[in-house]
Amino acid sequence: MTLKHRTYSEVTGTDASRMVDQVNAQQSRVAERLAGVKACVAVMSGKGGVGKSLTTAAIAAACAARGLTVGLLDADLVGPSAARMSGVNPTGLEVDESGVDPATSPAGVRVMSMDLLIEDDTPLAWREPGSESFVWRGAQERGALREFLADVRWGELDLLLVDLPPGTQRLIDLAELLPCLDGLVVITIPSAASEAAVSRSMSLAAEKGIRVLGVVENMAGYACGDCGEVRSLFPGDAGQRLADQHDTTLLGRIPFDPDAAGHADMGALDQMMDHTVAGAAIEAIVDRLLEAIT
Ligand code: ADP
Ligand code: MG
Repeated sequence: MTLKHRTYSEVTGTDASRMVDQVNAQQSRVAERLAGVKACVAVMSGKGGVGKSLTTAAIAAACAARGLTVGLLDADLVGPSAARMSGVNPTGLEVDESGVDPATSPAGVRVMSMDLLIEDDTPLAWREPGSESFVWRGAQERGALREFLADVRWGELDLLLVDLPPGTQRLIDLAELLPCLDGLVVITIPSAASEAAVSRSMSLAAEKGIRVLGVVENMAGYACGDCGEVRSLFPGDAGQRLADQHDTTLLGRIPFDPDAAGHADMGALDQMMDHTVAGAAIEAIVDRLLEAIT
């Protein structure tokens, strides 16, 4: 099932003058939709593949297990994975004229992700009116994110976690769309290359006045499945260094843990949290994160 929206590409010619009204109307709908959300935290990284989605989905599940009412918004519109990782069946979303209800994961997290709205593994295609330009695509993605936020009925939430796509542009969009954004969790891997990319993102967040709640270093060592011992993997100390440079805290380190990946990629976050070294590390991160939010 696909949400039907007017997108930027459809608002052309004489209709263009109405676009500003449409955007303003959507902006106030976003505010209404999020009126029942007590705290909103976005999760960001410098680049893809560093475990941002796994960490975000696991934090959401862990918070739900502690009795919080949690929403998880996958703002990665092009490479969505939150629903699959959260174990949500990709069918059965209730979409009607007034909006859409998020799906509920086995852990009780309310999940909204583009992977619930596209029927198969086809990547989301943007209708580009004759232009391949990245800038235009960025505008369309921003429009889609606003439409997405304007349509989802989250209800009352203690915490809404937003899984951002790699890079900084969506963070800026989100900060404009979500006045209720309480802060940012930043995911890095230990390497110097990741440190440099994430540091730029953190500087930009600071410029925009967005609070960084803390840094998570993922793939920090390798957790042996047999003995549970954590061995070295990537060189570097990006997590602590970023926390020091940007005057925030290291929320924790998560080792690379093949058992955790196996569970997460099957959508079995409960197994991951209860039975893996990475799961235990994420529980400790949740302790510190909840302290930082309150
Ligand atoms: P991102 O959202 O940053 O692109 P993902 O969360 O999708 O990255 O992670 C990429 C892949 O790496 C996934 O298959 C995920 O299960 C795996 N992965 C992430 N973190 C870990 C970890 N600590 N241990 C093992 N596998 C991990
Ligand atoms: Mg991701």
